[in-house]
Amino acid sequence: MGRYDFPRNIFQTLLASAFLVFASSTTALATDRTIYLTFDDGPLQGTENVLSVLKQENVPAAMFMVGLHVETSPRGRELLAQAKALPLVTLGNHSYTHANNRYRVFYSNTRAVVSDMLHANQVLGLSPIVNARLPGRDVFRLPHIATEDLSINVAEWQREWLDYELVSEAGFYLYGWDFEWIHSNDGKPVQSVDTLVSEIDHLFRYNKFVRPGKMILLMHDEMFQDQFNGREKLAALIDALKQRGYAFGDIGSYHQ
Ligand SMILES: [Zn+2]
Repeated sequence: MGRYDFPRNIFQTLLASAFLVFASSTTALATDRTIYLTFDDGPLQGTENVLSVLKQENVPAAMFMVGLHVETSPRGRELLAQAKALPLVTLGNHSYTHANNRYRVFYSNTRAVVSDMLHANQVLGLSPIVNARLPGRDVFRLPHIATEDLSINVAEWQREWLDYELVSEAGFYLYGWDFEWIHSNDGKPVQSVDTLVSEIDHLFRYNKFVRPGKMILLMHDEMFQDQFNGREKLAALIDALKQRGYAFGDIGSYHQ
């Protein structure tokens, strides 16, 4: 019997060292490749599915909510309460009016922009410092990080930059995004999960994010409203990213 001890020990040692190499490489991978899931515009149809998948998958996310949707959607207050009760969720401010989707008009009045954001704090029950995303603008204002929305032209930016600065000074950490799971006008996800995952792999190879190794993924609650496959699509994305060794970050740790 004793003659089997030696090879078995060798085998165990090899297995253990292989595991260590694997574990350290996945740890390195995880810290180098973190995805921050963010969901905008809730509470809406779809919010409940998002919350349920986050719980099932046990991954953190930021949900940037719109004050008006809390007050006008029939289940708004209930969904807001559910999101707040889930420790995985960081509730964020996405304005009160969502600029009524007329961004140029909205950002032409700095005082109104700041008060719209503060109004949303009241409705959402948030107090400074508040994680937030401006409606329609991919702008970052965080300690040591400030970036502009490259999709607007310089003239527009010159009219708007003071809005971003003063909102930030009013007690907000503003987050833009690195990449979006796009949706169609009727709220359906455009890229398939497979396409999205390969796009994400590709982007991490270039690693041109606002913070290297950290990708903020923008999605919208309404994309997951389908009662048949709304949950499945989001769960499939998260499962695929987990399998590929990505870590999921809490937005509060993003800029630290
Ligand atoms: Zn939005």
